[in-house]
Amino acid sequence: MMIYNNIPLKKYNTFGLDYMAECMIHIRTEKEATALFNGTVNWKKPFLILGSGSNILFTSDFKGTILYPELKGIKIEKQESDKGNLIASAGAGVNWDDFVEWSVNKGFGGLENLSQIPGKVGATPIQNIGAYGVEVKDQIVKVKTININDGSVRIFSNKECEFSYRNSIFKNSEKGKYLVTRVYYSLTTNPLLNLSYESLKEEVNKLGAETLKNVRQAVINIRRTKLPDPDRIGNAGSFFKNPVVQNYVAINLKNEYPDMPVYKDQEGHMKLASGWLIDRCGWKGKRTGDAGVHEKQALVLVNYGKATGMEIFKLSEEIKRSVYEKFGVELEREVEVVGVI
Ligand SMILES: Cc1cc2nc3c(=O)[nH]c(=O)nc-3n(C[C@H](O)[C@H](O)[C@H](O)COP(=O)(O)OP(=O)(O)OC[C@H]3O[C@@H](n4cnc5c(N)ncnc54)[C@H](O)[C@@H]3O)c2cc1C
Repeated sequence: MMIYNNIPLKKYNTFGLDYMAECMIHIRTEKEATALFNGTVNWKKPFLILGSGSNILFTSDFKGTILYPELKGIKIEKQESDKGNLIASAGAGVNWDDFVEWSVNKGFGGLENLSQIPGKVGATPIQNIGAYGVEVKDQIVKVKTININDGSVRIFSNKECEFSYRNSIFKNSEKGKYLVTRVYYSLTTNPLLNLSYESLKEEVNKLGAETLKNVRQAVINIRRTKLPDPDRIGNAGSFFKNPVVQNYVAINLKNEYPDMPVYKDQEGHMKLASGWLIDRCGWKGKRTGDAGVHEKQALVLVNYGKATGMEIFKLSEEIKRSVYEKFGVELEREVEVVGVI
C-alpha cells in the first residue's frame, strides 16, 4: 500500500475541484486492505473511499484519510457451456468502462447499455448505476467486501445489497462500513438486447445490425452528444435523481403541464424528469461565476473552471428551492456532498 500526505484532489474528482486531502492511502490488494482494517497499520479517521470521484462534490479540504482502492483484475469465474450463461468479476479499482468494453469484445451481453459511465467497478453497486433502461443490479450476482472495523471479509448476495433506484444498502444501514474489493456480474453469450429507449434503437439501426457492439457504440454516440466531457468541463453527470411521486401528484401536474414527461414506476407511483422540471424553472445555461447549469442538459451542474464546491452546492440549493416553489416537488441530490456545508 502507498500512503501519501497533503494530496491535491483536483484530478481525483470529475468536477475538477481544487481541495486538499490530509492523507491518501492507495490500496492495491485485499491483503493490504485487511492489514489496514485489522489494526496492523495505523491511519487517521475520518475516511472517505474514493473511486474516480465522478459522483462526489467536495465542498472543503478533506481532514482525514482518502482510501483509494486500486484492486485490479478481470476474471471469468464460471461458464455454463450449454446455455451461454457465465459469471465474470472485476476488481474494485478497474475502470468501469474498460470492463464493459472487455465484456462486449468477448461477446458477453448484459452491460452494454451501461457503456461509458465514468467511475470504477467498486462504485457500481453503491448507487446501482443505470442508463438506457438497464440498472447494474440486474447483473450483479454478489459483492465482495472487507469490513472497515475489523478487516473481515463479507460477501453480499444481490438480495442482501437491497438495491433500488440509485440506491443500495451501502448508502443506508451499511454506509461507510465496507470497502468493496470485487464485484461479480452475470453475463451471457445469448443476450436479449434492451432497446426499449427509442433513441437508442434508432441509433443502433443507423449503425446497422442489432448487435452487442452496435449497442455499445450507439450508447457512446448518444452520450457524447448529450453529456459534457468531464475532462473539458467539470461535472458529475446528473446532479439530481428523478423524483418518484404518488400517482395523484403526477396526474395533477400533468393536467397543469400537459407536455411534462411522466413514467410509470412501482405500484401507485410515477417518475418525473428532473431535467425537465429544472429547465422549466429557467435554469438551463444559467451561470453564476464559474458555477453553472449546462446549456444542453439542465440536470448537469458544471464547473467552468474556478468554481468552488460551495458555489456549486449553493446553486443546487437554489435549483431545489425553485423547483419546489413552482411544482411542489422535492428534488434529491444524486451526487454525494463531502465536506462542510
Ligand atoms: C459525465 C458523467 C456521466 C454519468 N452518467 C451516469 C449514468 O448514466 N448513470 C449513473 O448511474 N451514474 C452516472 N454518473 C455518475 C457516476 O459515474 C457513478 O455514480 C459512478 O458509479 C461513480 O463511480 P466512482 O468510481 O467515480 O465513485 P465515486 O464518485 O468516487 O464514489 C461514489 C460513492 O461510492 C463509494 N465508493 C467508491 N468506491 C468504493 C469501494 N470500492 N467500496 C466502497 N465504497 C466505494 C464512495 O465512497 C462514494 O460514496 C455519471 C457521472 C459523470 C461525471
